[in-house]
Amino acid sequence: MSVLALAGGVGAARFLRGVVRAVSPTDLTVVVNTGDDREFYGVHVSPDLDIVTYTLAGRIDRQRGYGLEGDGFRVVDALAELGHETWFRLGDRDLATSLHRTLRLREGAGLTEVTREVRRAHGVDVEILPMCEELAPTFVQLSAGRRVHFEEYLARDGAPDDVQGVDLTTAAAATAAPGVLDAIAGADAILICPSNPVVSIGPILQVPGVREALEASPAPKVGISPIIGGAPVKGPADRLLRGIGVEVSARGVAGLYAGLLDGWVIDERDAAQRQDVEALGLRCVVTDTLMRSPEVAHALADTALGLAAGIGGAR
Ligand code: GDP
Repeated sequence: MSVLALAGGVGAARFLRGVVRAVSPTDLTVVVNTGDDREFYGVHVSPDLDIVTYTLAGRIDRQRGYGLEGDGFRVVDALAELGHETWFRLGDRDLATSLHRTLRLREGAGLTEVTREVRRAHGVDVEILPMCEELAPTFVQLSAGRRVHFEEYLARDGAPDDVQGVDLTTAAAATAAPGVLDAIAGADAILICPSNPVVSIGPILQVPGVREALEASPAPKVGISPIIGGAPVKGPADRLLRGIGVEVSARGVAGLYAGLLDGWVIDERDAAQRQDVEALGLRCVVTDTLMRSPEVAHALADTALGLAAGIGGAR
């Protein structure tokens, strides 16, 4: 059975760690947001691609949620001494990943090919695909007409709450990376990971052809709520959802995906919202979705895949 997942960074990676316990890694393809990509220190940084790769390799720095465990920061510290702005804390070995990516892109390799090289070097058998190969930065619109790159919003400015909108026009003008639309069309089950719906899943859905491929696919499609008890587990999803006028709740995010998904997994703390989710036309399952351990992530993956199988079987 081939499983296709749409993913952002940390929440998605935690969940995918569970999916690879439920299905063979070679049966899983992940399409990852690249709207956070940007050049820092002269290298092409792909935050979500690397978080997913490092997590599946078992090498993620769990405390920070990104970067490699045990990495040092000698390069950024030295750059700071030379007067550079170093609010984007890229570890030394992590910098090597991005330097490799930059060198290979400069040689003419595509981001898909380079991503495959990096994940293979880390012993990861899951196919990890960028949503597109060109830079397609996400911008956040703030008060007083300010517009900042998503990483400036998150890492430099600490995710202020005066969000007025999100600009995904570069994703909407991008071309789906090689293999993305075919992987969606060929999947037996499609999962939307518990990721930021606005700036992680949102850009992927904007890439021309992706939404259409999802709609055309006969595979059951199931998502997992990134919101538990009215708040994100981590990150600025609450500020971004409010900024685009969506309720910060499991049912609010379900409403964003309604029409695209068949099923929605929500947390036990949100059990009271089940009927509202079902009223949107989604099959709803309530379970523990707070992935404190790989075992919980595994159980959550089993639940999501079980819901997908039930929906597929009912057709
Ligand atoms: P980011 O790029 O680091 O923000 O990562 P993501 O796109 O994966 O989005 C983070 C989202 O994942 C946030 O909305 C979190 O609430 C969600 N998330 C993180 N950990 C968990 C978890 O254990 N369970 C659930 N249900 N959601 C989670």
